[in-house]
Amino acid sequence: MGLFIKLEIDQGRCLGLADCGKCLGVCPVKIFAENGDKPHSLEANEDECTLCGLCLDVCQPDAIGVVKLYEEP
Ligand code: SF4
Ligand code: SF4
Repeated sequence: MGLFIKLEIDQGRCLGLADCGKCLGVCPVKIFAENGDKPHSLEANEDECTLCGLCLDVCQPDAIGVVKLYEEP
């Protein structure tokens, strides 16, 4: 988990990299990496998240959660 952002990937819902893998391709700041047949989040990169929402849009089973760890000003 980053200081400001935490990525959650539901490994049970995820379709797997062989059948999907879209999150790895769309994230502009490379937060997702391969972990066997499932993606995992590179915690050191999580704070780079731009909240673009692309990973949420492409993830058909809604397996990804982007959690803000801070309050909006
Ligand atoms: S986009 Fe969703 S279903 Fe596809 S590999 Fe990523 S987490 Fe899994
Ligand atoms: S919201 Fe955008 S920057 Fe953040 S993890 Fe998803 S694709 Fe990457």
